[in-house]
Amino acid sequence: MDCLREIQGKQAHDPIFIEKMNTSASWRCICVPGPLIVGAGPSGLATAACLKEKGVPSVVLERSNCIASLWQLKTYDRLRLHLPKQFCELPLMAFPTDFPTYPTKQQFVDYLEAYASEFDIKPRFNETVSQAEYDATLGFWRVKSVGVNGKGTEYVCRWLVVATGENAEAVMPEMEGMGEFGGDIRHTSLYKSGEEFRGKRVLVVGCGNSGMEVCLDLCNHNARPSLVVRDTVHVLPREMLGRSTFGLSMWLLKWLPIRFVDRLLLIVSWLMLGDTARIGLDRPRLGPLELKNLSGKTPVLDVGTLANIKSGDIKVCPSIKRLKRHAAEFVNGKTENFDAIILATGYKSNVPSWLKEREMFSEKDGYPRRPFPNGWKGESGLYAVGFTKRGLLGTSMDARRIAEDIERCWKHEAKHRMAFTRSLLQQPSSDSSS
Ligand SMILES: Cc1cc2nc3c(=O)[nH]c(=O)nc-3n(C[C@H](O)[C@H](O)[C@H](O)COP(=O)(O)OP(=O)(O)OC[C@H]3O[C@@H](n4cnc5c(N)ncnc54)[C@H](O)[C@@H]3O)c2cc1C
Repeated sequence: MDCLREIQGKQAHDPIFIEKMNTSASWRCICVPGPLIVGAGPSGLATAACLKEKGVPSVVLERSNCIASLWQLKTYDRLRLHLPKQFCELPLMAFPTDFPTYPTKQQFVDYLEAYASEFDIKPRFNETVSQAEYDATLGFWRVKSVGVNGKGTEYVCRWLVVATGENAEAVMPEMEGMGEFGGDIRHTSLYKSGEEFRGKRVLVVGCGNSGMEVCLDLCNHNARPSLVVRDTVHVLPREMLGRSTFGLSMWLLKWLPIRFVDRLLLIVSWLMLGDTARIGLDRPRLGPLELKNLSGKTPVLDVGTLANIKSGDIKVCPSIKRLKRHAAEFVNGKTENFDAIILATGYKSNVPSWLKEREMFSEKDGYPRRPFPNGWKGESGLYAVGFTKRGLLGTSMDARRIAEDIERCWKHEAKHRMAFTRSLLQQPSSDSSS
């Protein structure tokens, strides 16, 4: 531990603060004086920027070859931010004023690229963190990563920030007869556009924002989509009373109790969209905001899908019982033919697969155990950013808090580092005394 603290002390004023501790052909060890951030999505970038602003250098590790890989590599072409831009800004840098209210995916990626460049964030790409463990004897985190060439690196750091996201891995449900189906079955993370499904019968499984939007995209490309709705769902118009539904809800919540706001949202939705239960979309018992707070389940913001369901261009189906050759049998006993299946079945956190720690993060779902707004900080210099189930707003709150917390510690330790350096300088060296 003393040896590492000494290295930290010697590097206190060094802008290039990574030092190789030792090198071998297949394994190397790097000491990181500041925090190590795992993940270069919006959360990792926001944390690195907030730290940078406070004068704390960090290292960012990213498994893919670019920043914001979820947005760049795993989303469909027609995607826009679901929420208005003012709720999706990262700390310290606003969206360009000429961006529309709901920026396109490319605009959002451009903003993130500009953000990384503004704060001089240069992630170490193609490094997948395979294990991270706190070494209580050393008092440091040991983080192992594997590069594309299979070369391993061990990082030793005082602070570890988990920014791998709520959407790290696609959820692929097991369905009876999947091997028999014979057609294309893919997760939405591999869906780009309805173009390649033109004229085809496509079964979309899952009625969250992605499933609904993929159905709309398929309609726009003259495919024939059917939507499997297994559960209840709240569909709200994206805008109501001349404002974004999200913005209006946030504003109303300042003055009114959540149940009252939910009532209001449901009345206006009913007036604008009609009774969604009549088209096969039953609403949950709890209101949309209360449900979001309790379970994290996000209401669907309608961007035109509902009109296509009403017109019959999108068919609503019950749960799948089993798949057959180019067909699906549903729980109501009916069987229909399909050419392809798109699984809009969501994502999950991958934290339990690499973080050897069970106090802060739940092994079950890979989220911090403590509920919002207290899930960002664990023990021994461990932090989580972007696990609030509150999108980019939650990310910004976490990133600011983490940077403030680490800054306090960093400054406190800097005093010790300086005292240590001073004491070294003041000691009469054996050379000068001889
Ligand atoms: C289709 C879609 C639309 C959305 N729209 C909105 C919206 O409009 N507004 C909003 O607020 N939110 C939206 N979200 C939520 C979205 O998750 C967040 O906006 C944002 O991407 C979260 O950022 P993040 O950095 O926490 O996670 P991510 O963007 O997922 O970034 C995590 C990064 O960590 C990397 N990583 C994972 N595991 C490892 C590992 N072991 N080692 C190294 N690197 C690793 C990943 O490659 C990834 O680059 C949307 C999500 C989806 C899927």
